[in-house]
Amino acid sequence: MNIKVLGCSGGIGGTGGTTCLQLSDQVLIDAGSGLGELSLSEMKGVRHVLLTHAHMDHICFLPMFLANIIGQQSEPVTVYGSEDTLAMIKKHLFNWEIWPDFTQLPDRINPCLKLQTITDADLLVLDDMLLRPFVVDHAVSTFGYSIRKANRHTVFTADTGYDPRLVIQLDTLGDIDDLILECSFPDHLQELAKTSGHLTPQLASRLVTELATPPGQVWITHLKPSYENELRQVLSATAATRHWKLIAGEP
Ligand SMILES: [Zn+2]
Ligand SMILES: [Zn+2]
Repeated sequence: MNIKVLGCSGGIGGTGGTTCLQLSDQVLIDAGSGLGELSLSEMKGVRHVLLTHAHMDHICFLPMFLANIIGQQSEPVTVYGSEDTLAMIKKHLFNWEIWPDFTQLPDRINPCLKLQTITDADLLVLDDMLLRPFVVDHAVSTFGYSIRKANRHTVFTADTGYDPRLVIQLDTLGDIDDLILECSFPDHLQELAKTSGHLTPQLASRLVTELATPPGQVWITHLKPSYENELRQVLSATAATRHWKLIAGEP
């Protein structure tokens, strides 16, 4: 996989930080606590942040990241997300109460943050990569991303529950070299997983086996720290999942 995982834990207290994938020096997906793995100078090189959704574990380091780069750039950092995702962070985060509105700082003419609404009909070309958002089934408006980089096709499904429409969606994206899939809860908490829009080993396995063409590799992320050991044991012991790679928290 040619993507650097700065963090992909489903919470704190487990292995590593929460979701932040570094696609290139300039492009990140999500701004969870894994973003803190970057040095100050590396942060100053980031130009684009694509958000999957507005849940805290995926945006928690965005405010302090922007505070680090304010006044340092001639162009704003662009944060991409669905209309709902950007409305949520604007209303609940950059509201002058939780944090200043960086779309107006240092001033309205030359702000350090630009919010860019995207839809699942968009195709983005960033830093020689082709990125395509697609809708997944989670508790709030959420995008997964198809990433074509250097002849390799990686698909990150973000936080998602099992949904037959996701299987169809993934099939339409073409052959997948690397599928990055979440697995938040163990099978005995399947009802909780379904209610909260997450996967268990059984649900993740079902999703992968229903794909028309198996992915080259399956990478598992977003283990909830309280169940991390249990999930690691199950995923490494179950035949269907034995060859999947666990990258939870391993930068
Ligand atoms: Zn979430
Ligand atoms: Zn999450």
